[in-house]
Amino acid sequence: MSLGDARWIRRAVHPGGLPVQLTFFVTSRCNAKCAHCFYGDQLNQPAERELTLEEIERVARGLPRMLWVAFGGGEPFLRRDLAEVAGVFCRWNRPRILTVVTNGIHADHIESVTRDILAKRRDTFINISVSLDGLAETHDRERGVPGNFRQAVETLHKLRALRERHDGFGFSTITTVHGRNADEMADLERYIAEEIRPDNRGLNLVRGTPLDPATLDVNLQAYGEAVERKRRDVSGGTLPLQNFSLSTLNAAKERVMYRDVERVARTGAYRAPCRAGRIGAVMYENGDVAACEILDRKIGNVRDVGLDFSRLWFSPAADTLRREIDEGRCRCTWECAVATNVLFGPRYWPELLREWVTGGRRSSVAAPRAPLPQSVTVLIPCRDEATVIRRKIRNSLNLRFPNASQSEVLVIDDGSTDRSVELIEAEIARSALAVDRPRLRWLRNRYAQGKAGAIQTGLEAARGDVVLLTDADVVIEREALPRAIALFADPRTGVVTGRQAYCERLPDDSEEAPGDPWNRRGGAVMDPPGRVDSLYDRLMRRVRSLESRLDSVLLVHGQMVLFRRSLTLEPRAGIASDDVDLSLQARRQGYRIRYAEEARFWEERPRTRSARTQQGKRHGMSIAQVLWANRDMVGRPRYGLFGMLDLPFQWALLLAQPIGLFLMLTLGTAAVIALAPLPWTLAVAALALLAAASKGVRSYLVMNGLMASAIVSMLAGRQLTDRWPRDRDIAPLEL
Ligand code: SF4
Repeated sequence: MSLGDARWIRRAVHPGGLPVQLTFFVTSRCNAKCAHCFYGDQLNQPAERELTLEEIERVARGLPRMLWVAFGGGEPFLRRDLAEVAGVFCRWNRPRILTVVTNGIHADHIESVTRDILAKRRDTFINISVSLDGLAETHDRERGVPGNFRQAVETLHKLRALRERHDGFGFSTITTVHGRNADEMADLERYIAEEIRPDNRGLNLVRGTPLDPATLDVNLQAYGEAVERKRRDVSGGTLPLQNFSLSTLNAAKERVMYRDVERVARTGAYRAPCRAGRIGAVMYENGDVAACEILDRKIGNVRDVGLDFSRLWFSPAADTLRREIDEGRCRCTWECAVATNVLFGPRYWPELLREWVTGGRRSSVAAPRAPLPQSVTVLIPCRDEATVIRRKIRNSLNLRFPNASQSEVLVIDDGSTDRSVELIEAEIARSALAVDRPRLRWLRNRYAQGKAGAIQTGLEAARGDVVLLTDADVVIEREALPRAIALFADPRTGVVTGRQAYCERLPDDSEEAPGDPWNRRGGAVMDPPGRVDSLYDRLMRRVRSLESRLDSVLLVHGQMVLFRRSLTLEPRAGIASDDVDLSLQARRQGYRIRYAEEARFWEERPRTRSARTQQGKRHGMSIAQVLWANRDMVGRPRYGLFGMLDLPFQWALLLAQPIGLFLMLTLGTAAVIALAPLPWTLAVAALALLAAASKGVRSYLVMNGLMASAIVSMLAGRQLTDRWPRDRDIAPLEL
């Protein structure tokens, strides 16, 4: 590492300033028609709108020294002055690495332009990356160009010959793994290793809204295996990697990046703030500037600001976008951005350092999984849900089912008196002709009126391997279903609960949840404005995760809870927490109750303080009720760590703690007032006020206060009714 490299470390700690990583789409013109292209509707714009070489030079002069510049397109080599454009950046910005991604069509031309680029490179390392998406037949089909594979291979051979004669140059293949080539990866890699022998073998995961949506249906297991084979080849020395200073750090960064891409694709989980719009920028051929290529948002056009990049970069529009990215906790699978985040995000550094030190000799691949359930019944109990039932049905049909044609959405009506049934039937008529979608049907509650009867009816009629019990007023993220189902790979798992997320307002009539990828070009996930994530919510999530790892979760979310259909479950009338009670029945049968942290459903926060108080108190009463009804499980070795450790802990946390806290505060206050001298009383009062100023302390006291009040109500003999209608609509609390 040279002294000059210290600037990148400084940049990581102070992410303000101009970008040091630029992706530049030098042209939109393309000579291929790739099925996975997410840029298809914007290709082949007139060449006249492209920035001229002079304009590009003026932009480059306003940019700082760069770490990395990447040219993309369209097909970059269709731009006649590509070598001059590269020369401009090498002269003014001296990037450590300059990459050009090409489809490899017209080998002689690419070789000749690459020579010109090398002549202008100064101290920049040049990498040419040629796309190979499969063996000959697959590649030509997916690229829409007969003979593309042959030409790409010819280009790669010419680049290899160039590499023998030039320092500071490397060549690689790049493969986009998607729904129609994932299973061919191992054969392609073998061919590349034997016939091409490149310095590197890149992998991209399909993203966005591609020309052919079928490409999005990618087998992540196959992608993960391709990543693992690459890790083995690099650590085993059969894939040499480019030879530039810090290339071992670059290799470590790649490994962390791939792991993160796969993690986001599988779970949608947020890890750290994205540095797109801070460290990295994207510029299009016409001068439009964006934070990244995924969000369908431009900051502006350099032509509108006299080609002064910094005027765009430090504009209010750029600040707004950066704020939205941070507040929305934006995440995606775009490799370039993830790579930048790994290098410039301190939260990634421990993992990066470990990878760098170990050289990637540690496998990151999970053990093979057992077969997963294939069919799902989405069970929606319903009474007077006319305001939300249409949204709920569409959201349910839109989930990503493991096998949609074997799955179903089943609504059980519990005697609605509003338009619920009429709306359900209209949705059945609407979905009747859809192919490869779950079947939608509805039944009447066959038992005594109430939610327990509705659930019982649904459990008996369900046909799926797994039953997803869900409330009508929540919406579930599309990817939440596979994320939850993945936990059934453990045959001991009987129940899986999702994660609750609150927002101020759900859209009235949308099949999408707020956490679903929302922008037209797809691929990014942002939390909606108004997302609420209180200290209590975070604490309870942590408790659930720990419980899930230990043995079983106690407080499942009835708004999204999945049961193996093979379980024997009997909803009990009069138990308000039917979800918890049913899960405990599963635990009694020896199955575990697991928590899928990344399987989110969204719910509206009650709008008024009094509604929130009522909901909290009702929730507290239902917990107290179900704990009492299942008290025989506490301390029983036959229920494993759940019975011996978790249940006693939950009793202490949920029942003993609020009462203890209540007694301590009341008696303590009385004692201080009665016995302590006035200065002491005033000091204690001041301390109490100081503590109450903290939001965390207030929310802790409020939750325990609600719980204590719920327990007192239960002890006073008040009874809970069934959970109809929905909590948020309850005006006076029904006790
Ligand atoms: S979509 Fe979001 S996470 Fe992805 S690169 Fe853009 S800002 Fe970053």
